[in-house]
Amino acid sequence: MIIAVDGPAASGKGTIAKALGRHYDLPVLDTGLLYRAVGLSVLKAGGDPDHEADALSACSFADAILSDPALRSEAVGSLASRVSVHQNVRDALIQRQRDFATQPGGAILDGRDIGTVIAPDADAKIFVTASVKVRAERRFQDALNHGGHPDMDSLVADIQARDTRDMSRDHAPLKQAEGADLLDTSDLTIDAAVQRAIALVDAQLEGHP
Ligand code: C5P
Repeated sequence: MIIAVDGPAASGKGTIAKALGRHYDLPVLDTGLLYRAVGLSVLKAGGDPDHEADALSACSFADAILSDPALRSEAVGSLASRVSVHQNVRDALIQRQRDFATQPGGAILDGRDIGTVIAPDADAKIFVTASVKVRAERRFQDALNHGGHPDMDSLVADIQARDTRDMSRDHAPLKQAEGADLLDTSDLTIDAAVQRAIALVDAQLEGHP
């Protein structure tokens, strides 16, 4: 069984995917981490994330980078969004994601193009979203909790820039996949969002036994 969870930055898709993983006892892949690893590798190599050849050569990153805490920063999220516009970069990462999706027993993947490109035949698909204001507030709170000094206006600007780039790129743009249920988490607690996600997935699984 494959469950696809897509949505924009800070929509809650990662939290929901992990909770679904615990509920259905399935492994979860945060595919954004792969693009973040490419972004961070370009930076470390002194390359240009907007230059396709530089971004492509960063795709052969060592797996150790996937546990680097630097991957989680807003700056690396923006770099990831820049390298992910290149078709060659997306192609270089596709097999790894499909192998994870098709492992025996099933899997959950979260990202931007899981329901559209990576696993269009997924058994269940959810598109998680939330207003820009709520997403920026979540990032603000996260940064405060980690001892940072966030600036609300720049968080809003970063999220809007990332949304625009992810939704308007030529290859695998962020959009609600055919057959995906929309889950707006703007006014939901984490618990309520997770319960709603489980109900949506259960209903889709019943519809496709
Ligand atoms: O989900 P996360 O914020 O970690 O993703 C970072 C960036 O990686 C996104 O803004 C997007 O540009 C890119 N990405 C993608 N396709 C995915 C996952 C992430 O293009 N499946």
